[in-house]
Amino acid sequence: MIIAKSQKDLEKMRTVGEVIAQVRETLRAMVAPGITTLELNAAAEKMMRDAGAIPTFIGYKPHGMTPFPFAICSSVNEQIVHGFSTDKPLEEGDIVSLDMACTLDGFVGDTAMTLPVGAISDELKNLIRVTEECLDLAIAQCRVNGHVGDIGWAVQSHAEKYGYGIVRDYTGHGIGRRMHEAPQIPNYGRPGTREKIRAGYCFAIEPMLNLGTAETKTLEDGWTVVTRDGKPSAHAEHTIAVTPDGPEILTLTKEQKLALKNSRAETVAA
Ligand code: MG
Repeated sequence: MIIAKSQKDLEKMRTVGEVIAQVRETLRAMVAPGITTLELNAAAEKMMRDAGAIPTFIGYKPHGMTPFPFAICSSVNEQIVHGFSTDKPLEEGDIVSLDMACTLDGFVGDTAMTLPVGAISDELKNLIRVTEECLDLAIAQCRVNGHVGDIGWAVQSHAEKYGYGIVRDYTGHGIGRRMHEAPQIPNYGRPGTREKIRAGYCFAIEPMLNLGTAETKTLEDGWTVVTRDGKPSAHAEHTIAVTPDGPEILTLTKEQKLALKNSRAETVAA
């Protein structure tokens, strides 16, 4: 069953969304050649706890798996998702995907981004750009009376233009009091299919695109998911709420929300 959130719940989703967005933006500013993902993880965990939030990923244990040991997932280059933090410094030309979630006042915010480490190739820049474009297009489909298949189609139709591998083994998801709620939100699909979208639904939308094959495998640690052909992968994620006025991105900082509001006001004025 998909849980529609009340206005009171949505207020809490907005609050936790701002907290995790602030963590994301702080990490964005920290990523550079020489920093380790363990350092990024420690900074993220501290920020979450300082805000009174719980790092949702720590100890997260889906059926049959070992508890996840970190506050963030750090997935470098061919790692797609669920990468472990390490003491290996990031190197110029790498890309790193950082996925993070926290729980505050009983509700979860979940967001991810892929960042360049120093200067990267045009090929990698394009992969990251198209992944972000897929996220924007997918969010635009989160409208009352739309369907979950519309979201997947938005990602698939855009990513296929570039020949990228669209990861099918991992999906976006409903989100609220629990990180993973119904429905699953695949990054492929057909318009008008699957569940109908209603006001109050909250989704974590998260396209994962590979430079090569869509096929994945999991490393010995039981968590880290990599591309089967070893080619790089990018990931972008926001938590959104479906409102009668359209999708509302919850995982933006206060400043980002204000900037978005102002840009919309300008568009209306023009
Ligand atoms: Mg997620």
